[in-house]
Amino acid sequence: MATATTLEEAIFATGRQLHEALPSSVRNPIAAADERAMALASQDAELKAALFRFVDVVPACRSLDDLSRHLTGFLGELETPPASVAVAMKMGNNRAGRAALGAAAAAGVRHMAHRFIVGESPQAALGTLRELWKDGVASSVDLLGEATVTQDEAQRYAARCAEALDTLAGATRNWPERPALEHDGAGVLPRANLSVKVSALTPLLRPDAPERGKRDAADRLRGLLRRARERGAHLHIDMESLDSRDAVLELVLELLAEDEFRDGPSAGMVLQAYLRDSPQTLDTVLHWTSGAGAHRGQPLTVRLVKGAYWDHEIVEAVQHGWTPPVFQVKADSDRNFEELTRRLLDNRANGIRVAIASHNLRSIAHAIAYNRHGGGADADVEIQVLRGLGDPLQHSVAAQGLRVRTYCPVGDLVAGMAYLVRRLLENTSNDSFLADQAKGVALEDLLAAP
Ligand SMILES: Cc1cc2nc3c(=O)[nH]c(=O)nc-3n(C[C@H](O)[C@H](O)[C@H](O)COP(=O)(O)OP(=O)(O)OC[C@H]3O[C@@H](n4cnc5c(N)ncnc54)[C@H](O)[C@@H]3O)c2cc1C
Repeated sequence: MATATTLEEAIFATGRQLHEALPSSVRNPIAAADERAMALASQDAELKAALFRFVDVVPACRSLDDLSRHLTGFLGELETPPASVAVAMKMGNNRAGRAALGAAAAAGVRHMAHRFIVGESPQAALGTLRELWKDGVASSVDLLGEATVTQDEAQRYAARCAEALDTLAGATRNWPERPALEHDGAGVLPRANLSVKVSALTPLLRPDAPERGKRDAADRLRGLLRRARERGAHLHIDMESLDSRDAVLELVLELLAEDEFRDGPSAGMVLQAYLRDSPQTLDTVLHWTSGAGAHRGQPLTVRLVKGAYWDHEIVEAVQHGWTPPVFQVKADSDRNFEELTRRLLDNRANGIRVAIASHNLRSIAHAIAYNRHGGGADADVEIQVLRGLGDPLQHSVAAQGLRVRTYCPVGDLVAGMAYLVRRLLENTSNDSFLADQAKGVALEDLLAAP
């Protein structure tokens, strides 16, 4: 067993290697225009709020003039606009200027959306997914949609997911071999991989009546598990806010333990390290893999994340006068992430496949180094990133011969708005690794233990 110092040294060495393999534009933070825009927004809370409100109304705008009026309207509320914003507002003073500004804003939003969304449909995304695969990057497709409020919408989402499984399984058969992406110590990894949300499979998922939502989602999820098994695809169930966490976890573990799914498909769930009770959730999962789920032929993939609903969980708790269920100091989430990483890796032999989903070099380097120290093969830990946020990192991880999977949202611009806002918020948050990296924080500090 390694001493604490040598593990720390290994984490730093791994982090430095990953960092050196990043494109120079990321290492030198005065980078692309996108990054500069995000950096500007992250320094100014008022500007950030105005831009988010703007991004929210874009799908509803009917003309360039309309778009520009909204943009200048939101920006006009700023007490002290940055110089570049003041120029844009002057342009918005007349009709010609407004059309030009509107066109620029529309192009900017579209450009941003394309950065995070790979195509309007799975079929349209295939070219990008294949290119990623050729570059040594696997993918998981996520179908964006609006919140499901009717049974028809839930049915439509399930049908789109089933179709996506067919499309992906069909197309990926002809992809070139990439051994690092297709096998680990536990066996074959499907090329086709789809991530789904239970809240989109039922309109009835409510914290006050969890059984109703679970029952309603169960049939649709069963159908997708069957389809994934027939097509040899992997089905991953995302985790959302805490009010649905227990229902989603129970649903997934109950369905996967059914006899029908004894031999497949390959499937997985998500563990959120920002939740203070996440170690107990992992206990539940490990209890399942050695109990009700032990007869399954396939390991359960656990994707470890920090959690995407931090602000929501805080606001919800404050409104109800509850203690927040999430850590309130970022380093606590980071530390818990590392503790859960170690427990997951220690339990690989116990029916677990480990996927570390993060853009934080320290969190990733810690997982890789800890795995190596414990005698694990690199193939037994998968790194996952989000399209648009982890693009440079995915190539750097792939260049080390490690398996990396990029989560690729698919959908139209309107469906993508909520997703886009969540990603932008995350990227401009004060408490974010990517924001620190963009600000030019020194590598030694970025890699320091939380
Ligand atoms: C492939 C992939 C799939 C994902 N799937 C899901 C999913 O199913 N469900 C889900 O919820 N999220 C999911 N996420 C998002 C993930 O939870 C994180 O929001 C995101 O990855 C940012 O974390 P980081 O480790 O990359 O960055 P970091 O900058 O290291 O961490 C940022 C995160 O720290 C936490 N944080 C921020 N401020 C504080 C604070 N003051 N106190 C405590 N904690 C704080 C938040 O969780 C925040 O997102 C996924 C991410 C990836 C890469």
